Amino acid sequence: MDLTASENRTLVEQTTRDLVEKHLRPHLMEWDEAQHLPVELLKEQFGPAGLLGVLVPHAYGGAGLGYQEYVSVLTEVGRVCGSVGLSVAAHNSLCTGHILQFGDEDQKQRWLPKLAMGEWLGAWALTEPNTGSDAMRMKCTAKRDGGDWVLNGTKCWITHGISSDVVVAIVRTGELLDSNGMTAFVIERGTPGLKAGKKENKLGMRASETAEVIFEDCRVPEANVLGKVGEGFKQAMKVLDGGRISIAALSLGIAKGAFDASLKYAQEREQFGQPIANFQAIGFKLADMATRIEAAELLTTQAADLKNRGQKVTKQSAMAKYYASEVAVWASNEAVQIFGGYGYTKDFPVEKFYRDSKLCTIGEGTSEIQKLVIGRQVLQGA
Ligand SMILES: Cc1cc2nc3c(=O)[nH]c(=O)nc-3n(C[C@H](O)[C@H](O)[C@H](O)COP(=O)(O)OP(=O)(O)OC[C@H]3O[C@@H](n4cnc5c(N)ncnc54)[C@H](O)[C@@H]3O)c2cc1C
Repeated sequence: MDLTASENRTLVEQTTRDLVEKHLRPHLMEWDEAQHLPVELLKEQFGPAGLLGVLVPHAYGGAGLGYQEYVSVLTEVGRVCGSVGLSVAAHNSLCTGHILQFGDEDQKQRWLPKLAMGEWLGAWALTEPNTGSDAMRMKCTAKRDGGDWVLNGTKCWITHGISSDVVVAIVRTGELLDSNGMTAFVIERGTPGLKAGKKENKLGMRASETAEVIFEDCRVPEANVLGKVGEGFKQAMKVLDGGRISIAALSLGIAKGAFDASLKYAQEREQFGQPIANFQAIGFKLADMATRIEAAELLTTQAADLKNRGQKVTKQSAMAKYYASEVAVWASNEAVQIFGGYGYTKDFPVEKFYRDSKLCTIGEGTSEIQKLVIGRQVLQGA
């Protein structure tokens, strides 16, 4: 594994940092308070800069970069704002990533350029009110009617469930609990029967819109089926293998943001006539944070490296996601402690890292589910 940053990676980091500092940081708390998804930032700034099609080849309007650069993008956004990082991750790895991996040539030509250049915002819908971790029990259905499919049911917790221009949805086309009984469909906004439902009022990641997606006799043509009928669940598991690298990278960014703020504050804040960084209790917190963040970075880099080389990444992406997300929650908790009472207010950045980080141990598979995945892989000798 090569740990030196490539020229591409350094450039991507700098570009992302510049965009985030100029267009995101000034509005951070306003958007968080208002639960405002900055669609204009995503479409007008991130899209043209290539941040919404990082892994999409040039032929389809993307940046044509690899997973290491993708990790850099999410880390740099997450370092400032977890919410927007989550939106970038869901758009790139889930919606766009599903079409990129499983769409045929016509489908790629039709949807990828719009998604990659930020003309369209994407959503990916797997979760339902009664089926989160246990996605195989999903109740949303699609039934054949002539040459079309008719979708019915409700998906929930969907990132960009209201503002997306296109949704990739995995719904039941066969028997309950049959892993070959689900199919992935692409549904464009404006299709009759595609509706947005309740928007969640969240603890963190508040500027990333999370809402229900409702299908009521929503008719889509056969041309909108991704891959083969019945393959949707297996496709989704592969999409999540890659998606988990993005949540690991986002977690890493949040942990780094919390650490950067803590390091600065510990050297500025004085108590008992000296900077609090001089107290061993604070120095040890910083040492533990720095060490765990580097370990999370190494796991994430390893998973990205394997993915770039086209190797199986199930164990490593689950390990990276599990470890990095737990580090993000732990490090932002330590950051609030280092800031003392000020850390508990909205005048300082660490309370937001603390709130945002918690999603990372839940979304795209909880920590418990990552441990199930890792356990199974280890037992199979992977
Ligand atoms: C902000 C946000 C954005 C999201 N975006 C999307 C999106 O864009 N698209 C999408 O499809 N979904 C999305 N989700 C849904 C997310 O993926 C689910 O919330 C997650 O998979 C967990 O499912 P659940 O919430 O139903 O929890 P449950 O599955 O009900 O889990 C509850 C608890 O039980 C534990 N548990 C469950 N099963 C087991 C088991 N077998 N062994 C041990 N413990 C277990 C879990 O770890 C958890 O602690 C989002 C969620 C949030 C909060």
